[in-house]
Amino acid sequence: MVTTSSTRLALTRRPRRLRRTEAIRSLVRETRLSPDCFILPLFVVEGNSVRREISSMPGVFQLSVDEAVKEAAGARADGVAGVLLFGLPASKDASGSSAADPDAPVQAAVRALKRDIPDLIVVTDVCLCEYTSHGHCGILDGEEIVNDVTVAHLVDVALSHAMAGADFVAPSDMMDGRVAAIRTALDERGFERTGIMAYAAKYCSAFYGPFREAADSAPQFGDRRSHQMDPANVEEALREVAMDLDEGADIVMVKPALTYLDVIAKIKARFNQPTAAYHVSGEYAMLKAAARNGWIDETRAMMETLTAIRRAGADIIITYYAREAARLL
Ligand SMILES: [Zn+2]
Repeated sequence: MVTTSSTRLALTRRPRRLRRTEAIRSLVRETRLSPDCFILPLFVVEGNSVRREISSMPGVFQLSVDEAVKEAAGARADGVAGVLLFGLPASKDASGSSAADPDAPVQAAVRALKRDIPDLIVVTDVCLCEYTSHGHCGILDGEEIVNDVTVAHLVDVALSHAMAGADFVAPSDMMDGRVAAIRTALDERGFERTGIMAYAAKYCSAFYGPFREAADSAPQFGDRRSHQMDPANVEEALREVAMDLDEGADIVMVKPALTYLDVIAKIKARFNQPTAAYHVSGEYAMLKAAARNGWIDETRAMMETLTAIRRAGADIIITYYAREAARLL
């Protein structure tokens, strides 16, 4: 018969001692989430009192400016640091000209948010794909996105957001040289205090699917492989980040998050600069769908996911779960 005394091991290290109670586990916890590292994406549309749920993203809505202010005020009350704004214009054209319209939904929302919730950080997405009739991120010549012409348009968009009062503009287009062009234009116009959160390593990912419904930005032909990064590459991500920092980015971003945790970790280790990760629509939708089927515990899966993104090295997490997670912390 085996007795406890005869089977006692002579161990100097017993790691389980530090896992014995929640108080001890908390004492030695290495990664902590805090609502002030969360940014909530919002989709802003024309109109008033519009609150339209996105079918593939339960709990996420297209919001008119008045409703976006209510949502952002609620998020701020939950402790969420800021919002990232996307716009759905009333009309689209080949050059996405409404993206720089001072009265378009994003610009109007920035003004309203900065007026009503001054301590909320307001970040604006800068791209053309929500505004072009063809759904591509830039100006086309045939089926080719012309880089430098597109950058000139992006500069106008970024300036219109800065004029509205955005704290950060966030170019997500992955055109070459856009951070430098935007930084120069902002400085020339007296917006040296407006920051740039660059989507530095944005991958051509299958996990953006639900977003394209939310932002009505699916390309009418082809895909985004000519500008977004190949999922297989990490050295290229480090080069992109180095360039964006040289060009004046204040914060660099990796998108998506979960399938690129190694990229986040390498970027943080190499550059040690403020680093954001975008937990994207498809990542959110997967958790929601599994939870709705009773296949996972959503709360635990959400917190484990966000903790993993932070553990990888992200200082800032852009997530549709911002409010739900903030309320638990
Ligand atoms: Zn785009």
